[in-house]
Amino acid sequence: MKKITKILLNEKEMPRHWYNVVADMPNKPLPPLNPATRQPIGPEALAAVFPMELIRQEVSAERYIEIPDEVLDLYKTYRPSPLFRAVNLEKTLGTKSKIYYKYEGGNYSGSHKANTAIAQAYYNKQEGVRRITTETGAGQWGCAMSFACAHFGLELLVFMVKVSYGQKPGRKLLMNVYNAKVIPSPSTMTVSGRRVLEIDPDSPGSLGIAISEAMEIAAEDPYTKYSLGSVLNHVILHQTIIGQEAILQMAKTDDYPDVVIGCFGGGSNFSGIAFPFLHENIVNGRKTRLLTIEPSSCPKLTKGKFMYDFGDSAGMTPLLPMYTLGHNFMPEKIHAGGLRYHGAGTLVSQLKKDGLVEAKAKMQRECFEAGVLFARNEGILPAPESTYAIAGALDEARKADIEGVSRTILFNLSGHGHFDISAYEKYFENNLPDHELTNAEVEHAISKIEFPA
Ligand SMILES: *Cc1c(COP(=O)(O)O)cnc(C)c1O
Repeated sequence: MKKITKILLNEKEMPRHWYNVVADMPNKPLPPLNPATRQPIGPEALAAVFPMELIRQEVSAERYIEIPDEVLDLYKTYRPSPLFRAVNLEKTLGTKSKIYYKYEGGNYSGSHKANTAIAQAYYNKQEGVRRITTETGAGQWGCAMSFACAHFGLELLVFMVKVSYGQKPGRKLLMNVYNAKVIPSPSTMTVSGRRVLEIDPDSPGSLGIAISEAMEIAAEDPYTKYSLGSVLNHVILHQTIIGQEAILQMAKTDDYPDVVIGCFGGGSNFSGIAFPFLHENIVNGRKTRLLTIEPSSCPKLTKGKFMYDFGDSAGMTPLLPMYTLGHNFMPEKIHAGGLRYHGAGTLVSQLKKDGLVEAKAKMQRECFEAGVLFARNEGILPAPESTYAIAGALDEARKADIEGVSRTILFNLSGHGHFDISAYEKYFENNLPDHELTNAEVEHAISKIEFPA
């Protein structure tokens, strides 16, 4: 007989605030800089592309920020999200450790990204914005934003990384269903897109390029704002509902995690589950390890350099302090599209630098293998991105068994992979190349970073 262990919260137990890690960071994040003057920028510099309330959250040091009722109402259609103990996976592995996962795929978008999409659409609507532009890699963010915009009565224009537009037509169609307009990026619609296409007409695109395109359109029109699905402090703030719920759910078991794991694109799902546990470490003396897993082909935290760099490839964002491979870096076309981003968000970067967060890189085949093993035991088909967290959890369980100890492992299952089934087909056909960026390639990429004179 197979067992299922599912730990639920009721609606009344759902947290009413987001948690801002800045309040507890021993070293506060360095400020964003104006690229021309290299002086810290003020909040007003962001006002052309973001609504004021999101800018306030971006620079806030307040520990808790209240979740508006309208946002909570939509959260309640899929939150609190379930926490599972992966008892069948544990049994198959024969491990002494306990493996828990928080499942963020059970909403309209299929990933954690709905948590910030809803909040961002709400604040934009509040401030009279009519249209939002954004980028999307694999398409999860675009889908998350599409329905959130439809719900609050906003138009949405999505620049979708061209390689994913080809690989994942299902996500593009879902965005259309939710009434969004989707353009493959690089496009001829913007100066930054045309510039890329002149040099390389076959460019597969990147998140960095798509961000430049979306920001360019937003900067031109006072009623259009831009929205980002990861990396920035306010995005990470909105995701902390995940970890706060997980703490309440773990309290209903006899266990507490020794290690919390998230896959790593720009940092939002990892930070969302991990930061509330970091609060417990800092304030209540807990000793949970916080571990990110990124692709070996895009290893910003494990091999990148901590420095000021742009968040997009055309250099439209302020300079942000982060671990980066360089804003012009073009990652390999791996199937975890959501992890193909050149930099790590400022908050995780500072915490990694201070030794409060650990990082590890993995190749995609091992991760798909872990994803298939997980699906066969737990029944949920993971998003390719999420398979990195699963592979990280399997490593921790195996390591504990070798050491002869039992650990409690918690990972974030950031989304489901129903739209990514063709990536699994490639895995079964043995047609998924592994790729690891060498130190020399990283140095070359970083040496090519160009800044304005
Ligand atoms: C976007 C995405 C990621 C990566 O982004 P983060 O901001 O690092 O979380 C991971 N998993 C899924 C399912 C995603 O959609």
